[in-house]
Amino acid sequence: MNRREFIQRTSLAASALALNPSFAIGKKPRFIIIGAGFSGLAAAYRLYQKNSEFIILEGRNRIGGRVFSHVLDEGENLVVELGAEWVGESHTRLRQLCDEMQLPIENNQMDSHLILANRYYKHGEWDFSEQWKKKFDQLKKGYSTLSAAERNKLDNMDWWRFLNNNGCEGFDLMVHELNDTTDFGETIRQVSALAALNEYALSSEKNEMDYKIKGGNGMLAKKIVEKIGMDKVRLNCTVTKIIQSHAGAEVFCSNGESFKADKIICTMPTFALGKVAWQPALPTEQVDAMHALQYARINKNPLLFSTRFWEAESFDLLTDMPAHYFYHATKNQPSKKGALISYTIGDKADVMGNQSDEERLSLVQLSLQRGFGSIASNFEKQANYNWGSDIFTRGAYAVYKPGQWSTVQKHLRKHFMHTHFAGEHLADWQGFMEGAINTGEAAADAVL
Ligand SMILES: Cc1cc2nc3c(=O)[nH]c(=O)nc-3n(C[C@H](O)[C@H](O)[C@H](O)COP(=O)(O)OP(=O)(O)OC[C@H]3O[C@@H](n4cnc5c(N)ncnc54)[C@H](O)[C@@H]3O)c2cc1C
Repeated sequence: MNRREFIQRTSLAASALALNPSFAIGKKPRFIIIGAGFSGLAAAYRLYQKNSEFIILEGRNRIGGRVFSHVLDEGENLVVELGAEWVGESHTRLRQLCDEMQLPIENNQMDSHLILANRYYKHGEWDFSEQWKKKFDQLKKGYSTLSAAERNKLDNMDWWRFLNNNGCEGFDLMVHELNDTTDFGETIRQVSALAALNEYALSSEKNEMDYKIKGGNGMLAKKIVEKIGMDKVRLNCTVTKIIQSHAGAEVFCSNGESFKADKIICTMPTFALGKVAWQPALPTEQVDAMHALQYARINKNPLLFSTRFWEAESFDLLTDMPAHYFYHATKNQPSKKGALISYTIGDKADVMGNQSDEERLSLVQLSLQRGFGSIASNFEKQANYNWGSDIFTRGAYAVYKPGQWSTVQKHLRKHFMHTHFAGEHLADWQGFMEGAINTGEAAADAVL
């Protein structure tokens, strides 16, 4: 069973993405897309291909949203990702778009090292127990045959409890807790077991951490905008009010501008959605769902070093130390210099995000000490982006808590008058660029 079938079977079919009555013959409808992230840009590209009239309103001063490529070293042209990093093997639509735009994708798989309980294990020196590997495989294989009642039961349990109830203990459980928490962006004690099993059962072997777009993932946003035309994108246009009536919709921005349209595609994350004055107001169940949904706190701290002291090109490292997870962020980018990203989640993200550069570096040093000794003499500079403080998302991506996967999302997906919703949080591939693209295209199909 793939994700789309899964969603259908869990009765999320009454979604916002259902088809709409078409417009009056002879009239060319106007569309407003709110947000120039991957969902908004995918919607725009679809509308562009259908020769439709549209404009994108974007609150930031840049395109790409949570895809945010950053040049860490201009001289060496070393590009790191402050937002989304990995393109998955199963992310077929994103990869098709890359092909279409002639954007090469490069292998970005990692081989994991581990620092746990004060001991450093290189890649190949650690593994899950044979017993647990066998059991976990069985659980993943059994996923597609779960009954509706069993899925419902799982949705009401957290992933840590599920693992533990199925015999995952000791070293196995500690590594799962570190690793899976990195995936979901908050502790797995707060993640729906159904959402997690869905993720692991349907993902590629490396859990969709497979590729990256050459030159940075932001290249796809750039290429789409080159196709549709930058004149279609209004930056620094934060939407503050949306008025809808039988005649259509009017959208007001913080810079005083307003725009009229027949239909709106709204790709705002729920935090931003809640800041908009809707007239008439959004339905109560949609507002309640919006308030119930939390976003993962992730802090990304790229660190530039004069040499790649970690040596392995495909290096990543899970730790039980404050900096949590590191990966080689300049893989495939030739230079003597290189960057590691310290990737922290949940409370650890808040700790890292709130420090000065100097304090952050000392936490990084403390976290790497057991494996690499002193790294200070190699260090050149750092950047930092704390998604928990981002004014539009207050987080990295949606986290479905126990009980929410089959209850909350269906309310958020419903269209409201002339407005159709899209974005990562509504996707079958939730939490991924692929999901953002899928929902953006589906919303464009629905309004056309
Ligand atoms: C740290 C991190 C790591 C990630 N890792 C991966 C990964 O490895 N692989 C992967 O596939 N995905 C990853 N993701 C998820 C991926 O980035 C998102 O799923 C995807 O980019 C979301 O796209 P979107 O269009 O739904 O939302 P966004 O990119 O957030 O786009 C929405 C846009 O709306 C704009 N907006 C919001 N409010 C308003 C307003 N009021 N007025 C006007 N504009 C507004 C925002 O500025 C934004 O540009 C990661 C995300 C983060 C943050």
